[in-house]
Amino acid sequence: MRVVVCAKQIPDPASPYRLEPDSHWLVRPGEQVLDDTDRYGVEMGLQLAQAAGGTVTLVSMGPTGTMQGIRQALAMGADKAIVIDDPGLRGSDALLTARVLAAAISKEGFDLVIAGTESTDGYSGVVPQMVAELLDVPALTYATQVEISDGQITIHRQTNNGYEVVQASVPAVVSVTAGVVEPRYPTFKGIMDAKKKPVETHTLSDLGVAPEIGQKVRDVSVAASRKAGVKIEDDGEAHLKIVELLAHRKVI
Ligand SMILES: Cc1cc2nc3c(=O)[nH]c(=O)nc-3n(C[C@H](O)[C@H](O)[C@H](O)COP(=O)(O)OP(=O)(O)OC[C@H]3O[C@@H](n4cnc5c(N)ncnc54)[C@H](O)[C@@H]3O)c2cc1C
Repeated sequence: MRVVVCAKQIPDPASPYRLEPDSHWLVRPGEQVLDDTDRYGVEMGLQLAQAAGGTVTLVSMGPTGTMQGIRQALAMGADKAIVIDDPGLRGSDALLTARVLAAAISKEGFDLVIAGTESTDGYSGVVPQMVAELLDVPALTYATQVEISDGQITIHRQTNNGYEVVQASVPAVVSVTAGVVEPRYPTFKGIMDAKKKPVETHTLSDLGVAPEIGQKVRDVSVAASRKAGVKIEDDGEAHLKIVELLAHRKVI
């Protein structure tokens, strides 16, 4: 089974994020890490490929830099990586990102595509579904459990109240939530092996993708600050005041 995992490199969330003064785009340092969300996708991919006998290929769009994030995913056990880096991708929106990822995945060939539900830096939460539409395969989203057998993929799809069981035939795209599996830590051997694993780099023209008007972010604005909430001092009767306030706001 050919499993493709979308793996995004992001600036280390432990360091404060900075925006470029003119474009207001996120400053992406040369050294980026694997998005924590995608560690779950990589682990899921490794487990499914191991069970069915198959390979795991990473697909990543963005400035390659030192490729620390990609190497992290390769050190976990993925077989190879495809990275799309092109100056024409600066300021891409989710749709252009999905078009680029879908073109690379289609060129590579796949039985299953795994992505995170939403990334840690952009969190638009729409790329996996767009990739599925562009590849013309089913999208199964918010998976907390994934099983594949006899050409069928079955997931538990997280809902507000519990989960739904959703099934489709493969090839398909599935987006997984954090907690779907416990991501492994790379071993020393894994880290050493990762240095020798193949990493293909592509440009937009290699994939035949042309950025179109409307698929770039044109403006970014600061979100309106929230109004201060209501402060209730606890004089022993605070719970009553909270209930009264919630009832007044028709929350309960
Ligand atoms: C202002 C701005 C500037 C940008 N500048 C650049 C740039 O200079 N160069 C560039 O390449 N991109 C750039 N992008 C694209 C950006 O980094 C995201 O990849 C894209 O907007 C997708 O949004 P998201 O991360 O919110 O997707 P979500 O839908 O939240 O992501 C869900 C999942 O999809 C997968 N995924 C999403 N994006 C990628 C990716 N890039 N690679 C692999 N898997 C992915 C991951 O598995 C992720 O967990 C820019 C975006 C914005 C908004």
